[in-house]
Amino acid sequence: MRKSLNLSPLHRRTVLQAGTLALLLGTRQIARGASIVAVRIWPAQDYSRVTIESDQPLATTQQFVPEPPRLAVDIEGMNLNAQLRELVGKVRPDDPNIAAIRIGQYQPGVVRMVLDLKHAARPQVFSLPPVAAYRNRLVLDLYPAEAPDPLSSLIAERTGASANAAAPAPEAAGDPLGELIASRPRTGAERPAGTPAPAPAMAAAAPAPVPAPAVARGTDRIIIVALDPGHGGEDPGATGPQGTREKDVVLKVAYLLRDRINATRIGGNPMRAYLTRDADFFVPLATRVAKARRVQADLFVSIHADAFTTPDARGASVFALSQGGASSSAARWLANKENQADLIGGVNVGVQDRHVQRAMLDMSTTAQINDSLKLGGVLLGEIGSMAKLHKARVEQAGFAVLKAPDIPSVLVETAFISNPEEEARLRTAAYQEQLADALMRGIKRYFAKNPPLARSRSV
Ligand SMILES: [Zn+2]
Repeated sequence: MRKSLNLSPLHRRTVLQAGTLALLLGTRQIARGASIVAVRIWPAQDYSRVTIESDQPLATTQQFVPEPPRLAVDIEGMNLNAQLRELVGKVRPDDPNIAAIRIGQYQPGVVRMVLDLKHAARPQVFSLPPVAAYRNRLVLDLYPAEAPDPLSSLIAERTGASANAAAPAPEAAGDPLGELIASRPRTGAERPAGTPAPAPAMAAAAPAPVPAPAVARGTDRIIIVALDPGHGGEDPGATGPQGTREKDVVLKVAYLLRDRINATRIGGNPMRAYLTRDADFFVPLATRVAKARRVQADLFVSIHADAFTTPDARGASVFALSQGGASSSAARWLANKENQADLIGGVNVGVQDRHVQRAMLDMSTTAQINDSLKLGGVLLGEIGSMAKLHKARVEQAGFAVLKAPDIPSVLVETAFISNPEEEARLRTAAYQEQLADALMRGIKRYFAKNPPLARSRSV
């Protein structure tokens, strides 16, 4: 006899959203008929994500075993199939967190997956209801127990030391699939299925600890520009008519701008770019802001390439935050669209750090917006020298990603990826370099007029 299903509150909600029919049938019947639509793995230093997309919600139980570190997930009402097996071959040898995935038929109607991890981890397992092009998603996020410290990485990069402690070699994972959970005493690190895991990603977002100032030596102040390539991972952003994905193009532009920033000095002080994501994985909007604040960035530049419903929309635009209404209905529309990234990218709402959000709501953004408009103005001017502009002035709307109260923050729509001409241009290395050059010139111009503040400001 199989043990009864143990659904998390989140999962229950998902099931409820499936409607009356679902309630009549009961959850077990639903899960039994589920079939897998796709499996994906998004490896990254911050965390590695495994997504299992299915046509119906999956009922799961999971257990984390710390020694050697591994996560076992049982999918109920499922028989082993080719789609699930694909996961095994999708683990990349250079995945920073996952060493291997084993998968097998644990019991009739129960598939067990075991994720062998490269180091101590804090996993999160949650499900997402259908959104955009996605059906139901079961998400396994594997966060390293010890998150890399971005600030020391930046400083180490500067001094030439290696900031990345080498990941320990994968532990030998000798457990046969079947005996993993059986009769293992529950330890503190293991949670009952359905209990939300602690929020490791958001640990970085906690407002309380103010990191040490980014000063290597008394006179040598590092000027940090946070670059925020939009979307990533499960969230492709906008897609052009030729299939160009926004998340890929903006990451390339961010890399090019990073190179330029890292080779620049302002008033004798070295500059460093800090990327809120440096690979193809999703970063929630609030986490992007929190990451920039954690390194005490002097500027925040979010890079996008958006789409409109008609192919003729064209030109770059630059946005700042608005405290009240949006400066135009188009700006409001765009902000709403960008703010949906968390739904598509996939956020574990059970562990969202509300402290961060509340703390930031209490802080005034008036001064930030004034500085952001200045930054946006010079960036717009420079982009206008090499590309068409959509609007000749900086627009304002309630973009979630621009809400750091203490960092001048702008969002640059580099072009309309939905416009066939602009998409074609965005794909070329030459255009990406011109964009990076223009943004670099704008950043230098901003600092020429608005020298970076001393590092003593309070957070
Ligand atoms: Zn975007």
